[in-house]
Amino acid sequence: MQKFTCTACSYIYNPFLWEENTLSWTTFEDLNESWTCPHCGEGKEGFIETPVYIQEVFSLKWISEQESSHIPFYKEQWDTIIVQIGTTDNPHEIEENHFIEYVGLFETDGEIIDLKIQPEEDTLVFENPWIDEYEVRLSCNIHGVWRGIKI
Ligand SMILES: [Zn+2]
Ligand SMILES: [Zn+2]
Repeated sequence: MQKFTCTACSYIYNPFLWEENTLSWTTFEDLNESWTCPHCGEGKEGFIETPVYIQEVFSLKWISEQESSHIPFYKEQWDTIIVQIGTTDNPHEIEENHFIEYVGLFETDGEIIDLKIQPEEDTLVFENPWIDEYEVRLSCNIHGVWRGIKI
C-alpha cells in the first residue's frame, strides 16, 4: 500500500488501527473526503505519496491471506513489545500438524533475545529489550520464518 505524507507537517498517514485487540486498516484512498491530518488539520488534498526513500519495504497489496495470518505485527508500548500474530480477521490456525513453532525477538545478527515456544495466544507480550535494532520473527512449522512488521 502506498503511504501518504502531509505536505504541511510531514505526518505520515498510518493505515493501521490497533484497538482493543483488533487490528484493522483503512487505505488512504478509502478515507472520507472530509478527513483531515490528525496532526495539523490539513485536508486530504494536502497529502502526497510518501517519497520512496522513506517508505518501508512493505505493501499490503502483495500480502496474501496466507501471509497475513503469519506476520507478527508488533508495537512498542513503554517497557513491553506487544505482538499480534496475523491480522485479527485472519489469525493463524493452531492445528496438530500446522502450528507456530516460536515467536521471538532477535538481534539483527540472529542472536536470540527472547523466545516463546509454541504460543497458544494470538497476542504475546515481550519485555522491551531497549536496543535500537531488533527483529520480531515467527516460525510456522510448514510455512517457515516470517519477519515482523512494526505498526
Ligand atoms: Zn499535517
Ligand atoms: Zn502456517
